Amino acid sequence: MSEKLVIGNWKMNGRTGRNADLIAALKALPAVCRDGVGVAPPAAYLGQLGAALAGTPLALCAQDVSRFAGDGAYTGEVSAAMLADLGVRYVLVGHSERRQYFGEDNTVLADKLEACRQSGLTPVLCVGETLAEREAGAALTVIRSQLSVLEAYAGRALVVAYEPVWAIGTGKVAETGQIEEIHQEIKKWLLQCGRGADNIRVLYGGSVKADNAEAIFSVPGVDGALVGGASLDAETFKSICNAA
Ligand code: PGA
Repeated sequence: MSEKLVIGNWKMNGRTGRNADLIAALKALPAVCRDGVGVAPPAAYLGQLGAALAGTPLALCAQDVSRFAGDGAYTGEVSAAMLADLGVRYVLVGHSERRQYFGEDNTVLADKLEACRQSGLTPVLCVGETLAEREAGAALTVIRSQLSVLEAYAGRALVVAYEPVWAIGTGKVAETGQIEEIHQEIKKWLLQCGRGADNIRVLYGGSVKADNAEAIFSVPGVDGALVGGASLDAETFKSICNAA
């Protein structure tokens, strides 16, 4: 895929004033770059950002979605239909922090993917191995088993993000050879499972910063980035977007 996609995952950070400043700075991105840029604020600020991004090419993204598709008695949940109503386009599904702190497994994630499909949202399925799994030589096995949730996903819209858990928020970036190997494997797996890998972007995530973005984007098979910490600083995020 030629056009790269860069999504800023704010995680549980933000306040209305700060958000407004960050978005104002991002709106100043050159048009060519804005086409492939998304911002994922906490759910509490989706309304604020939806209004701020309306009419711009910046894509509104959500960090999570309820596994329950219909309205009802699910206290604290935010449904895919609500996200779509707010103008969300992409939804992170199965981020490693959701898997780790909220016990999300393939059963839960299959429901979330289906909820996205029903509401016309594009899921960004996050996969990646822990350091212990990599050291045990199990990285590919783990990633394939995380990808297997897609076997039941009937939607066409899809983005995959490879985020080695040991590289998230640690400042440790996977080597370009490691990134290339896993991205090629993910694309091979997608093809084997009947999905045209040419239409599916595979993003890299894990300590992407201004000074390593260009090298990461030049790795064959890298179609963009999922950026955590560095997306909270407008200038840093802008230089990452400009490197894409
Ligand atoms: P990081 O986070 O860029 O802060 O490492 C990436 C992510 O968790 O999506």
